[in-house]
Amino acid sequence: MKCPFCRQATTEVYNTRSTRFGTQTWRRRRCMTCHESFTTYEAPDLGFLKVIKKSGQKQRYSRAKLYSGVYGAFLSIPQKETTVDAVTDTIEAKILDTKKRELSTPEIATIVLSTLKHFNTAAFVRFLAYHANLASDAQLSRELKKY
Ligand SMILES: [Zn+2]
Repeated sequence: MKCPFCRQATTEVYNTRSTRFGTQTWRRRRCMTCHESFTTYEAPDLGFLKVIKKSGQKQRYSRAKLYSGVYGAFLSIPQKETTVDAVTDTIEAKILDTKKRELSTPEIATIVLSTLKHFNTAAFVRFLAYHANLASDAQLSRELKKY
């Protein structure tokens, strides 16, 4: 890997750790030329995953889309960047655990909700209210009882 500071190709790894629920590998690297240090992350590629939309259309999974959905649920919650990263990693780990190559939007929403529930109740309720297309309060309380 090239050094991001001087672009020389000779770098060495001096520390490796598994991060966040074991879904990522974190490496500290040092450049042999300019001696600057930098971090790299290794994460499983979910590029194989297809998301089946309501219309039946299939789309390639996008971490950016998942991240922004989770981010929306955490608006107004302090230190959301760190939390949103951790939540997104957890959701991706659960997606990998399903061992499926295709998931529907509701299946993904269920995984998101079961994850949010453990992290933050306010974010869980906000995501549910935003994504469940709820017509009435009665429907909302019915949805809430599922979790
Ligand atoms: Zn360098």
